[in-house]
Amino acid sequence: MDLIPQFPALRIGKVETMVFRVPIDVPVETSFGLMHDRPAVLVRVEDQDGAVGWGEIWCNFPSVGAEHRARVLASCIAPVLLGTEWRHPRDAYVELTRRLRVLAIQAGEPGTIAQAIAGVDIAMWDLAARRLGQPLWKLLGGSARVPTYASGLSPTAPEKLAAAKYGEGFRAFKLKVGFGIDRDRRNLRALREELGAAALMIDANQAWVTDEAIAMSTALEEFEPAWLEEPIGADSPLSEWTRLAQASPIPLAAGENMRGDTMFAEAIASKAFAVIQPDLAKWGGFSACLPVARQAIAAGRLFCPHWLGGGIGLLASLHLKGAVGGEGYAEIDANPNPLRDLLATPLPQMLEGVVTLSDRPGLGVEPNLQDAGRFLVHTECVS
Ligand SMILES: [Mg+2]
Repeated sequence: MDLIPQFPALRIGKVETMVFRVPIDVPVETSFGLMHDRPAVLVRVEDQDGAVGWGEIWCNFPSVGAEHRARVLASCIAPVLLGTEWRHPRDAYVELTRRLRVLAIQAGEPGTIAQAIAGVDIAMWDLAARRLGQPLWKLLGGSARVPTYASGLSPTAPEKLAAAKYGEGFRAFKLKVGFGIDRDRRNLRALREELGAAALMIDANQAWVTDEAIAMSTALEEFEPAWLEEPIGADSPLSEWTRLAQASPIPLAAGENMRGDTMFAEAIASKAFAVIQPDLAKWGGFSACLPVARQAIAAGRLFCPHWLGGGIGLLASLHLKGAVGGEGYAEIDANPNPLRDLLATPLPQMLEGVVTLSDRPGLGVEPNLQDAGRFLVHTECVS
């Protein structure tokens, strides 16, 4: 259960957002484009007693949109958060979602606003858990041990990065596909030679239409991927996903581009998806992703939260997976990103693919703002 006993009322006195951006030497390649830099938007909430909570807002694409999210939070969301006494983080999530519903439609930005609310929700849960002196995984009735996988293996020599990550302790891996059948097959063959029978997944990032996806799934089956992620547009009708699932020899995964209780409930009920992967900083935070996770597990699906951003969101995703348990893994980006390490210190230790979260309160980490400061490009503060 995630009902918090004797929850301290939260009166938020200050909301800050910080935008970081780091240029990277080797772009992260996906089937729809390159990432030339790594952005992150942190949310810091401070209550009137001076207690602090940290959250993160998804902002990967396009990365120029990071500052916009910080401004949306400061102008539209912070005023609602500041004016009320909150009895539970979920109350703030529900009220923010209700109050911003029309604006989200009118602006044509339901995604942006959902992301900003999600970042605030993470910060409110971190704050609540810190006030109670408990790590979030424990407060939510879960386990400190979280199975993980190394993701974001780009299509250029992925076996080299996979070998390095194996050396760091990872035991499951995900390759980006959708770069043509020859290149995809070459990469899977190289990874199988490097990793042996390790768990291996593939992510097409919405590269194909259904018939192509069926052909590719059939062509890649011999490498025994555990799942095929987003082979087609995430907004494809469920009838199309179901047709694909029935024809695909590889089980399907999706969720990072789903938004809303209804969309997840229908996706879980459809039986098209073997793996459900919400990104808690892109929609829902803990308040809405916890129920989705429990529904997915109760329906026999793997729950594997998506994450490919900075350190606070990574820790939140690990706590979410630790809270609900079950088979499957939390995602950890294999690509270099200083904002993953600097914004969440100390990062938990990894052993044989399993991360053990600490007993420190809340998310259990602090951003190292001194060292990350050189990447800070924009701030907002509302009090
Ligand atoms: Mg993906």
